[in-house]
Amino acid sequence: MMFFVIFVYLNFKRMNDIDAIQAELRKFNQERDWDQFHNGKDLAVAISIEAGELLEAFLWKSPEDAKVEKVREELADVLNFAFQMADRYGLNIKEIMLAKIRKNAEKYPVDKAKGSAKKYNEF
Ligand SMILES: [Mg+2]
Repeated sequence: MMFFVIFVYLNFKRMNDIDAIQAELRKFNQERDWDQFHNGKDLAVAISIEAGELLEAFLWKSPEDAKVEKVREELADVLNFAFQMADRYGLNIKEIMLAKIRKNAEKYPVDKAKGSAKKYNEF
């Protein structure tokens, strides 16, 4: 038993943060037999609903009046479902996010985009 605990601990320490979060989410869902509900469509719907709940934190308020606890809760929900979506499709979160940042850097070159809120096709 002790060896198993040490093995699990060392394995957990070896994981990066993203892997650790996904492992925790997998365990959470497996324990509840919820994987059956987490198809791509329902995960996309869940992300959108949680994003709506995040918006609720700001509804009828100025941005600075939103409660950070509500933002924290709903942002975590969005991220948890997004991480599960990546897991479902076998997508590497670090890889896809860095690729998207590079793509956006090309769409929004600093000389054109700096200080501007215009969309890339409006430059
Ligand atoms: Mg929520």
